[in-house]
Amino acid sequence: MLFAGLNLHGKWGISSEDVIIVKKLLIFGNEQQEPPPIIFLPTVAHDTRENPSLTRIYIAKYSSALDYLAVSRPFSFSLEEVLAMAKRLREKFPETKIVASMAPSKLSELKALSSNFSNLVDAYEVDLGLMGLLHQYPRSFQAYAVDMLEEFVSIAPKTVLAKVTPNIPFSRDLLELLVETGINGVIFSPHPIYTIGRDLFRLHSPLLSIVYASLWAGLIAGLEVSTAFISDRAPTLLTEHDIENAYDLLLYDTALVFKTEIVPSNKIGPLPLKWTNIAPGMVPAVDIEKEPFCQHVCPLQAFKQENSTMLHTSIVTANKNCDNCGLCLSLCETARLIRELSPEE
Ligand code: SF4
Repeated sequence: MLFAGLNLHGKWGISSEDVIIVKKLLIFGNEQQEPPPIIFLPTVAHDTRENPSLTRIYIAKYSSALDYLAVSRPFSFSLEEVLAMAKRLREKFPETKIVASMAPSKLSELKALSSNFSNLVDAYEVDLGLMGLLHQYPRSFQAYAVDMLEEFVSIAPKTVLAKVTPNIPFSRDLLELLVETGINGVIFSPHPIYTIGRDLFRLHSPLLSIVYASLWAGLIAGLEVSTAFISDRAPTLLTEHDIENAYDLLLYDTALVFKTEIVPSNKIGPLPLKWTNIAPGMVPAVDIEKEPFCQHVCPLQAFKQENSTMLHTSIVTANKNCDNCGLCLSLCETARLIRELSPEE
């Protein structure tokens, strides 16, 4: 299929709001399935210096793969990490189209950011939602964003996509102005972001996904541009009658994280007010006797027993695969951060 001038071997991909799946793909591949036709790299900005020991995902509620509320951390990865990801994805999945995602404060920053990716990606995504949230614009954000995109499209040597989110006021007028800039496609994200101090928290939920897919489907009718929607319902849970099919392409992030057979139902907790800091030397540990599913919850298989340390009969600590994502800490009641001491200590 053709999406925004890119030839894709399927109608799905990984969104730039993913904080788990791409890392898993790079380690394990796609478990007997074809690699994603398109992968959007995590969004980067110029002046974000995120702390790599902060967790990246928190599950506030989970009843089923169709009823959950997950929170992810925008800007979980530095520019250097994302560039390294792009290089490894290119080598590992040569057929997959790769898109750099950016939230610049101004055109010069967008040019500088995009030049980092020039030989590594097939397209650029400009995240207008994060841009508006991160940088306080003195005049109309919409006019500013449209001017910047128009200029960028005139010089960009590749496909340019604009991403919109519930954090910016959205209308058919704005959509038409965006299309007039010459962009090749619009990505619709149903994930609002809330902020506490400097921390950003992005909400993912199938319910929000259905609501926004329906609201925006009316706006895209007759639009002369490719459209993609980020769905929180996994491809296996969608039928041909679902509203998500109104969009040319479907992108996924948290929808691909859950393995329904192993996650306990009816977990519910408060929304996070800050991200957990996993200090150097600390590792997650779970009790697999009390919560057997926790041994399989880690996307990077950090609790596989042959690779992990058994402290006693039932507590398993994460092995070196652990990259501090935080999923086990919010899904397993018995999860704790512990420090492993050698006999000399
Ligand atoms: S052990 Fe826990 S924190 Fe570490 S990668 Fe696995 S799920 Fe994430």
